[in-house]
Parts: sequence; structure tokens; C-alpha cells
Amino acid sequence: MTLRPYNFSAGPAVMPTEVLEQAQAELLDWRGTGMSVMEMSHRGKEFTQIAEEAESDLRELLNIPANYRVMFLQGGASSQFAMIPLNLLRGKTQADYCNTGIWSQKAIAEAQRYCSVNVVTDSTANKFTSIADPSTWQLNPNAAYVHYIANETINGLELHTPPQVGDVPLISDMSSTILSRPIDVNQFAAIYAGAQKNIGPAGLSVVIVREDLLGNPLSFTPTMFNYKVMADEKSMYNTPPTYTWYLAGLVFKWLKKQGGLTAIAETNQRKATALYKAIDDSDFYNNAIELRYRSWMNVPFTLADANLEKTFLAEAAQAGLLTLAGHRTVGGLRASIYNAMPESGVKALIDFMQAFAKRYG
Ligand code: PMP
Repeated sequence: MTLRPYNFSAGPAVMPTEVLEQAQAELLDWRGTGMSVMEMSHRGKEFTQIAEEAESDLRELLNIPANYRVMFLQGGASSQFAMIPLNLLRGKTQADYCNTGIWSQKAIAEAQRYCSVNVVTDSTANKFTSIADPSTWQLNPNAAYVHYIANETINGLELHTPPQVGDVPLISDMSSTILSRPIDVNQFAAIYAGAQKNIGPAGLSVVIVREDLLGNPLSFTPTMFNYKVMADEKSMYNTPPTYTWYLAGLVFKWLKKQGGLTAIAETNQRKATALYKAIDDSDFYNNAIELRYRSWMNVPFTLADANLEKTFLAEAAQAGLLTLAGHRTVGGLRASIYNAMPESGVKALIDFMQAFAKRYG
């Protein structure tokens, strides 16, 4: 296998090398067809097979029940911030939202265009380092749904178990945590995720929605934003992002080969535990997130002396450890350790951090 530097980007993020190698091998000629997947008609039998296999592999990985529809859509997770209220208010005028970070705020701002938003919990006061226990959330029984961001990618704040919200449909943005562990899809009315972290390249969102909730969109919902249309047309109302869909399918096969989500979850937990331990064991590094909400996927940290950040990034890059800068809105440093980041990458980062702390501490 090709050796490459370790890329800790938050998204677009590292892909499994095996997947890239397979795509490379199939780039000019997919299985004797004489065509690249990106050159195929989306309605031809070859691409239909690729698309259906990707969906059935995803269904198998996440154990998605038959009464849920799976869509492969364009527009990134940000489009879902609008599509959720457009499609899932279903005649209601109120929705519950959690504010646990920057992505929550974007989802809330978008939803406010279509309904009255009740913020059920707000982490502003603790600077998005913690989340009030879900048992204390101020839920509205008339809400069309409760929306939360399962993993706040920028802050590295993750709700590890779905909140119990009674009979109100629960909707989750899982952009940066989907496929990192098994989940019980039955607990959700809808789950959505931008692809560019744990699924594949950017340009695709996966949406999983319970089918009884479809068919009652706001009257002015654009056709391209209408879940029912998209679900009935198998995400091919128009030309879908075919090549990205194919690569997502390769990632799903790779995940199955790793042993599925139970196996990948064990690896992910080991990776995160080792990195947080290295941070906590040292006075040189800090992560301020309350322990039970620390993200498995995005690990932000600061240096005791913030002036050393540039040096840290430059020396890390020299050591083959790339893209460790924090998000432009919060600064600091951040290591994103999605499924495709091998344990050897996390170990290399820890070794580098310990050596750096010795040199400059
Ligand atoms: N939600 C979360 C949790 C994210 O991390 C991101 C992107 N980093 C988005 C939404 C927005 O995704 P996109 O850029 O695909 O619109």
C-alpha cells in the first residue's frame, strides 16, 4: 500500500488509501465497460448497479430498517438545514433545536426562516464545552421535531447517546460522526450527513428518513429540495453526483471489510482515548470539553503558549502530520481522526506532541 503523510483535516478529510487505489485502478475502465464511472449515464445498468449496491451496503452497515428511505443528495449538509423544516414540519409551525455549537447555530438560523424555533438547550454560557443533561431540556410537546447536531465538528463536542425526547420525532445532523459506531436508526425520524468526513468526497449528503413522514412539504418547497420527490425518484430526479456516490460505495465496502461498525467503533474509541490521554497527561496541551462529551472524531486542543502554534504546525507538517490547525473561527489546533485515520497516524501524532512538548515545554 502507498505510504502517505497523515492528514488530520476536518473535511474534506482523509480517505482510506485502499479506496483511492481501487478508484485509481478503475479510473479509465470500470470493470471492462471501457468507461470511467464519471463518464457513465446515471440511468445505465452499470451505474444503477453501483448506486443500488452503495445503498444496500449502507443499509447493512447501519442496519437501516425497511421503513426508512435512503437518499444520496447534493448541496452538502447545509442544504439539509433548510430541507429538514421544508419537509418535516408537516403542517406544524414550531420546532425544537439544541444549540451546542456553530453548526447548531447555522441550522437554527435556517430553520427560523420557516418556523418558530424553540431552543431547548443552549451551551453558549459554557462556551460550547458541555451540554446540559437531556433530562433538563425544555421540550415543546407541539414541536414538529427535535433537532440536534450529534457531533459539533469545530468544538469537538459530541452527544454520544441520542437524547430521549418522547414521541416527538428526533432528527440528527451526523455529518462528522456517522459510521463511526453502530446506532439504532429506529430512535430517529431522520439522520443526515455531509459526505466529506466519514463517507467520501464532498458533493454528496446522505439522508435517512422514516417514510411515513414524507409527502407533506411546505407548499413552496423547490422540487430539488423535496424529499418525497427525491425518495420516489431514487435520488435521480436529476443527475446525481455519480462519481462521489461510487466512491462512497467503495468506502462502505472498505468499512465492511474492516469488520463493520462494531469493529471500527472499537478502533475509534482506542484512537480517541489515546489522544485525549496524551493531552491530559501533559501541562503543555489542553482540551476543555467535559469528559463525557468529548468527540471521538474531532479533537481540538490548545498549547499552554499559543505563540507556539505556528511552530507546532510547521514542525508537524515536516514530520508528515498535516492539517492540524483549528477551525478559522476558533483557532487553536484540531486533530480530526475519522474512520480512515489509522491508529498508526494517531500514534505518530502523540509521539510528535510529546517530543514537541519536551523541546519547547
Ligand atoms: N454540519 C456539521 C456537523 C458539519 O461539520 C458541517 C461541515 N463541516 C456541516 C454541517 C456543513 O456541511 P456542508 O459543508 O457539507 O454543507
